[in-house]
Amino acid sequence: MPPKNRFAELLPEITAWRRDFHEHPELLFDVQRTAGKVSELLRSFGCDEVVEGLGRTGVVGVIKGKTDTAGRVVGLRADMDALPILEATGVPYASRTPGKMHACGHDGHTAMLLGAAKYLAETRNFDGTTIVIFQPAEEGGGGGREMVADGLITRFGIQEVYGMHNMPGIPVGHFAIRPGALMAAADQFEIVVTGKGGHAAKPHDCVDTTVVAAHIIVALQTIASRNVDPLKQVVVSVCTVATDSTAHNVIPQVVKMKGTVRTMDAKVQDYVETRVAQIAEGTALALGARAEVHHARGYPVTVNAAENTVFAADVARAVSGVVDTDTPPLMGAEDFSFMLNERPGAYIFLGNGDTAMVHHPAYNFDDNAIPFGSSWYAGMAEARMPSP
Ligand SMILES: [Zn+2]
Ligand SMILES: [Zn+2]
Repeated sequence: MPPKNRFAELLPEITAWRRDFHEHPELLFDVQRTAGKVSELLRSFGCDEVVEGLGRTGVVGVIKGKTDTAGRVVGLRADMDALPILEATGVPYASRTPGKMHACGHDGHTAMLLGAAKYLAETRNFDGTTIVIFQPAEEGGGGGREMVADGLITRFGIQEVYGMHNMPGIPVGHFAIRPGALMAAADQFEIVVTGKGGHAAKPHDCVDTTVVAAHIIVALQTIASRNVDPLKQVVVSVCTVATDSTAHNVIPQVVKMKGTVRTMDAKVQDYVETRVAQIAEGTALALGARAEVHHARGYPVTVNAAENTVFAADVARAVSGVVDTDTPPLMGAEDFSFMLNERPGAYIFLGNGDTAMVHHPAYNFDDNAIPFGSSWYAGMAEARMPSP
């Protein structure tokens, strides 16, 4: 039976898992209930091995094919964590924990990969080993990075790896992908400007940190407009400005700013980091103050390998018939990038229809997407490790 037909049969079961996860959202690494249920199900499917606690609360299932003539190992990845959002969907299976919600559809991703694992464990029509990966803490915690650091790739001998994210605005059952950079690197910076505080009526006796900070904010805009090649994507946003003065008439001694940098290219990423520091330090110096800059690297660029992207698109086309292979890159960031940095692979978007955007309180994963998503996961294992 082709995967898609089997998943039409499995739809009620996979939907029930999805809605159970939806009712019980968990944040970051605290996904014990979800991970426990994932492990229990993987064991019930007859996976050859189930490993818990990788990257703190990640789960890995090993499924061996009917044959293994070439030693091929393919990783398929889903994420398990929810968001600190008060749900406003009104669905009967809404979150039972006010302030926590599956608003990014990771409940759907986990359920779809479980469905694929069930199918692959019962059919095993592939030559090699499928590794199903369930990661915690995609929403800012770096669970993917921790699983990699915990030996995910080497311990299981993963040779290539594939991931998927649902996407509102794309019709259900349609896929979208592109080779190369698909999602941005997200870095954070903090700039601390120190001057000389004092009476606001005596600016000549002070070094006004608010004026220095304002010049820095404006000058940072020249990174995108004057420094980086206009054909390369870059975002520099200052999002927090805080002074140690709450008065109308006190020039603050210190102003702290926080912001984010989004880039699509490692060279641009390095260059922007250098320019943020030069601009902040140089501008402060020119105006008689001092700036200290802290730059922290977050998730790297999510890069789809060219050959693997062609395979991912072919499998998606077989599943749904509609694949956009030139979808525009997004300036959001994705923790799966840590796995793609280790091994070639691809990340694909699956349509969620005309719903609220992910991270919105009214967002909900569309269960009608399940047969497409599960079929794609299972199809990737079968296509990359064809039986002889
Ligand atoms: Zn998200
Ligand atoms: Zn997400």
